[in-house]
Amino acid sequence: MHLTETCDDDLPHLLTQVETTIAPVPDVVQLDSIQRDLAKADLLPAQHLVDAGYVRALNLVTSRTKHQVDLIGPTSEDHQWQAKAGEGFDTAHFDVDWDRHVVTCPQGRQSIRWCVTETARQRTLIHIDFAQAECAVCLARSQCTRAKAQPRSLTLPSATEHKALQAARERQQSSAFKVLYARQAGVEGTISQGVRAFGLRQARYRGLDKTHRQHVATAAAINVGRLANWLNEVPVAVTRLSRFAALAALN
Ligand code: SF4
Repeated sequence: MHLTETCDDDLPHLLTQVETTIAPVPDVVQLDSIQRDLAKADLLPAQHLVDAGYVRALNLVTSRTKHQVDLIGPTSEDHQWQAKAGEGFDTAHFDVDWDRHVVTCPQGRQSIRWCVTETARQRTLIHIDFAQAECAVCLARSQCTRAKAQPRSLTLPSATEHKALQAARERQQSSAFKVLYARQAGVEGTISQGVRAFGLRQARYRGLDKTHRQHVATAAAINVGRLANWLNEVPVAVTRLSRFAALAALN
């Protein structure tokens, strides 16, 4: 089950969308359906805070272009060893000229091949090669590639996806992002409430359709409770502080 809730400061935090899927469907492919549903009900947020499971380059782009929504969540890390080591030349170190189809490496060398392919899932990928002769004698080679003799190569997504991913990676380093993203934790409390108080871990009926109705009814019950609390000016519960954190705060 996927839940979407509002997180405005002075308003009750209400559930606005409930999605029910079979278990193996990854979060990342569910985002479009969630946003389409929100759009249909005219409930799309300007900023959609999600956990890392929903974020990929394509979703950053389609959220913006299809729904004018700023998707906010941690991007997956660059899994290249250069990025993990924190000292090598990962993709961000290369300057991509999308108009001329040329990439310039950190040593100022230009790529010699730009090859566009399409995957079985209709994703555009661009393979880029640098010259063997230049990479072979490069003094920074150990920071760039671990290949014994092959030159450096790169694989990039389309221009819009690449730019969106680089911008998101840059943004998530800022303190403003951390403050904004802290709000996403609220939905974890909602899931916990659904599981502990409403037995959401147990499907009461057989079949996705009926299970979805159970989820929607649960979300409606949570909303009614929250609205009642808000109208009666009952403050929201503060996040429980673990004993260890409380002890640490004393020192
Ligand atoms: S190994 Fe090749 S691509 Fe890498 S920095 Fe050196 S010249 Fe540039």
